[in-house]
Amino acid sequence: GATATGADRTTETHCPYCALQCGMGLRPAPGAAGGLEVVERTAFPVNRGALCGKGRTAPAVLATGARLTGPLVRRGGELVPAEWDEALDRVAEGLAAVRERHGPDAVGVFGGGGLTNEKAYALGKFTRLVLGSSQIDYNGRFCMSSAAAAGTRAFGIDRGLPFPLADIPRTGCVLLVGSNLAETMPPALRYLTELRENGGTLIVVDPRRTRTAEQADLHLAPRPGTDLALALGLLHLVVAEGRTDEAFIGERTTGWEEARAAAMAHWPELVERITGVPVPLLRAAARMFCAPEAAMVLTARGPEQQSKGTDTVGAWINLCLATGRAGRALSGYGCLTGQGNGQGGREHGQKADQLPGYRMLADPDARAHVAGVWGVDPDTLPGPGRSAYELLDALGRDTPDGVRALLLMASNPVVSAPRAAHVEERMRALDFLAVCDVVLSESARLADVVLPVTQWAEETGTLTNLEGRVLLRRKAVDPPPGCRSDLEVLRGLAARLGWESGFPAEPEKVFDELRRASAGGKADYSGITYARIAREDGVFWPCPATEGVVGDGSGAGDGSGLESAHHRESAHPQEDAHRLESALPAENVHPRENVHPGTPRLFLDRFATPDGRARFAPVSHRASAEEPSEEYPLLLTTGRVLAQYQSGAQTRRVGELNAAAPGPFVQLHPRLAERLGAGEGDRLAVISRRGRAVAPARISGDIRPDTVFMPFHWPGEGRVNTVTNPALDPVSRMPEFKVCAVRVERAEPG
Ligand code: SF4
Repeated sequence: GATATGADRTTETHCPYCALQCGMGLRPAPGAAGGLEVVERTAFPVNRGALCGKGRTAPAVLATGARLTGPLVRRGGELVPAEWDEALDRVAEGLAAVRERHGPDAVGVFGGGGLTNEKAYALGKFTRLVLGSSQIDYNGRFCMSSAAAAGTRAFGIDRGLPFPLADIPRTGCVLLVGSNLAETMPPALRYLTELRENGGTLIVVDPRRTRTAEQADLHLAPRPGTDLALALGLLHLVVAEGRTDEAFIGERTTGWEEARAAAMAHWPELVERITGVPVPLLRAAARMFCAPEAAMVLTARGPEQQSKGTDTVGAWINLCLATGRAGRALSGYGCLTGQGNGQGGREHGQKADQLPGYRMLADPDARAHVAGVWGVDPDTLPGPGRSAYELLDALGRDTPDGVRALLLMASNPVVSAPRAAHVEERMRALDFLAVCDVVLSESARLADVVLPVTQWAEETGTLTNLEGRVLLRRKAVDPPPGCRSDLEVLRGLAARLGWESGFPAEPEKVFDELRRASAGGKADYSGITYARIAREDGVFWPCPATEGVVGDGSGAGDGSGLESAHHRESAHPQEDAHRLESALPAENVHPRENVHPGTPRLFLDRFATPDGRARFAPVSHRASAEEPSEEYPLLLTTGRVLAQYQSGAQTRRVGELNAAAPGPFVQLHPRLAERLGAGEGDRLAVISRRGRAVAPARISGDIRPDTVFMPFHWPGEGRVNTVTNPALDPVSRMPEFKVCAVRVERAEPG
């Protein structure tokens, strides 16, 4: 792998956690946790050296005492140490035996949005070629899939932000929906602070007054699950007040009449009744959004993790389109993707319906192209599989479509899946489970074989951040001797299953194949090389090769009808990049001229739809899958806290983070607490139709009285996903993490 190491032996790399992918330097520091100290990387434009506590303490995860340092196999009911050969043999045999007995679709694969692009690519290829199975999906389905579906429907393509973060302070108004970025990605908060310093306004939509909402000029706190109605109400007011952009609608969109009619049926008083947001606040928000020339809507998990998530995001996109705030400089709709490689992880084939380059598996041309790169007959490629929850729900089922064996990589569904106790039960019913992880996660504990793998700073690979900026995360330290990379695991398994070649373990070789596979696709990486990424602080896709792609010769597509932005920020050349460049094979080094510049801004002249026009979504409000009832009179919503990340498999191993956020809690309004007779810290049980979670009360006026909130990072009795609802969005197949009906009771002392 490539490393860019300066004279002081600092390696320029990126944080292991969220989709901001903050740049950081890692310097050897004997005695420090993980043998490395984190140093600022101020030249990297996304975070300019700033890191949150998770990033700052990340080296501790390398050296955690919980680290797996050798494979484990189950013998006599216990997980016991084993050699790599034995462990890989057991996995290959376990998967092959199920395939033999029940067919290839009885073998499933579950990946993660934290996997590098190379790993996501290799995992999809492994599943479809080596296993011959259609049954692959990943935890990114639980993250931003509704925004992806809505973005594709409206714009013809899904890239989290169609503009760089640097545009945010220069727009006039940001309407931030269901994002608590002050806690989930703190360095990004400065973009909103700068926006306000520049005279711009910030509107935050969130049922809770979060640290992010505290920064807002206007905070709207709708009932969970009603922001679709809220968006329609705002659009209604925009129309009523004559603030639509008819020229833009006429020239650059289709479907306005239907969308307009749907919005006009949502008059403000009705919207107030549905959402609980008073009409004067609705009016204020509509005016604030329309006042400046440019504005943005940014969404995160709030509107997305609903059984109507695609339509909810579609309604927010409609608001952008009707006001001419899309496909124009400093305006547009964007999704703040969550996981480290939430963007790249959904582009390269670990999603049930996708092939690399954001091609669709059901598309014959896409199949032919990718099969050509893989050197196989397109007819041998399986079709689309099931979405994440549906796949987990099928585990261990003794039915013709049951999935009896599973390979799990970079995910911990026992904590992070909806209706988690049921998912855990399904995983226990499997004939065979293999898990690749760095620690013995709650899911790994159920495995027949556990393979200890390398992590971020121990390996090199690319990730694509929430802006669509492809980044190089470099290796800074050797892994523990007993660990192997996920790519090495796939190579070892493929070889045992009859594929001696086609699965290299060197990340750059995989990336070069990924470039060929993505060429001409929507997420076209063919013009991106490791050297360019290092030199340019990342390269925005689409970035088609202007000459043949390494080792190919077929040339590349033209960017799929997307506009190449010629408005690129000036690059931030780094001396280290040149050292890296000289260390790379000559064919990977492009001269600066004659290369595609990458595409920081999409849609400036046309959208990526066949006719180049954006499509309005004809959406109307509908109820959540569960509304309050006599038995379950309250709403539960879930989310994250500053010091923990996802299922906590990594962050719960870091002392400083655990001290800051030691466990789950139930946030509830003082009036509700009084009704329950509960004081601060009293144990509360949050109970839904699926189960209960118990945690101490945290009483706060920052939440609606009809709603309780729990963070989802912990297993055990405080595992809130025991309670959440797996009701799925019909388009994105996103579960409804953000709203379900519950009752809250005082729990017996622990
Ligand atoms: Fe890491 Fe995200 Fe924190 Fe940046 S904001 S340091 S990428 S966890």
